[in-house]
Amino acid sequence: MKKSTLSRREMLGRTVRLTVIGSMPVFVHACTPPEFHCEDVSNVGKADLELRNALEYQDRSPHGEQKDCANCAFYAVGDKNQCGQCTLVRGPIHPLGYCNSWAAKG
Ligand code: SF4
Repeated sequence: MKKSTLSRREMLGRTVRLTVIGSMPVFVHACTPPEFHCEDVSNVGKADLELRNALEYQDRSPHGEQKDCANCAFYAVGDKNQCGQCTLVRGPIHPLGYCNSWAAKG
């Protein structure tokens, strides 16, 4: 049987590093707002759904925070971590979403 060559100090250092690395996803998760989606269109009428699709609404803006629903003139903020509303596009609207009718808030 081969005898271990790790010193007690080396073993302790490795254990501490593994503990820190192992707890990082928990720390990152705690700092990230809860994920939610605004894609349930079951209560949206056919004509409104066609408009929503024609304007290519999506839950994540391809322009990032530069142009998203949260800074659009037509967006009405929802409760914390909840979907908002739009005066043009019916149905739940994500603050990070986007559609082709985006207009900067005045
Ligand atoms: S018009 Fe489009 S970009 Fe503006 S809030 Fe409504 S869905 Fe979002």
